[in-house]
Amino acid sequence: MKSNVEQDVKTAECCCGACTVSVQGNPVILAICHCKNCKKRTGSAFLVYQLILMMNRAC
Ligand SMILES: [Zn+2]
Repeated sequence: MKSNVEQDVKTAECCCGACTVSVQGNPVILAICHCKNCKKRTGSAFLVYQLILMMNRAC
């Protein structure tokens, strides 16, 4: 069984998989944007983003 710290680590990667990031803890901001720029950048109806403090970086 994983410890509480290990369970709290979240990982993500860019579209091509070249960049990965692992963070620990909850985001400061979690939001969805429907503006024209975000629709264009994602090719979808909205963009989901979150702001995480760098001090929460796991690696
Ligand atoms: Zn936007």
